[in-house]
Amino acid sequence: MKLRIFRVKLGLNSCYLIRGKDVIMIDGGMPKKLKVFKKVLTIIDINPSDIKLIVLTHSHFDHSGSAREIREFTGAKIAIHESERTYVEDGGMIIPKGVNIYGKITQPWLFAIFKKISFPRFKPDILITDDPYPLNAYGIDGNIIHTPGHTPGSISVILDSGEAFVGCMAHNGFPFRLSPGLPTYAQNIEEIKKCWKLLIDGGVKMIYPGHGKPFSVEIMKESLGYQ
Ligand SMILES: [Zn+2]
Ligand SMILES: [Zn+2]
Repeated sequence: MKLRIFRVKLGLNSCYLIRGKDVIMIDGGMPKKLKVFKKVLTIIDINPSDIKLIVLTHSHFDHSGSAREIREFTGAKIAIHESERTYVEDGGMIIPKGVNIYGKITQPWLFAIFKKISFPRFKPDILITDDPYPLNAYGIDGNIIHTPGHTPGSISVILDSGEAFVGCMAHNGFPFRLSPGLPTYAQNIEEIKKCWKLLIDGGVKMIYPGHGKPFSVEIMKESLGYQ
């Protein structure tokens, strides 16, 4: 089945909808974005009840902020890595470090602000472990895989056709980067580089970042110094 991919901007964040037999959503956007989301669904002509799964790449407010309302609206199930469950259930925030000079300068004040942003808490329906979670039950050839580094429980959706939805394993554009590449903030950038090696060796072609527009894996290869 030919999959269709839609990018949905819910605040600073790029969420994605993948339509196979069912529709799955990657990330739940910033807080209070249900209204925008409803509008977008009308424009792209997706029935809310067709969305069966919301995969949260990690627990940060800009990726999980409207997840609860979107679940209530669509009836979809929410999946997140088991190690980030407590942050969406009880609050608190995993604070990543600045990776580059811009990141190091902006991290202290930016995350002091971010730390104070709260969003409606919820209990996830599906807890992802370190093992791949297949998506064929949704009519989508691909897997959810554990890709730690931005946060310890960051996960990605990798389609067999080469599209990678990677949350904050990559950034492309304001306010985090001006051009596509590695994220500006990460708990462990070396772990992210290891994940990229695995994804590149596995044949990923197109990268769909958590912030900004999709870009070719060739750009990532270049910034990692691959030939
Ligand atoms: Zn994040
Ligand atoms: Zn983010």
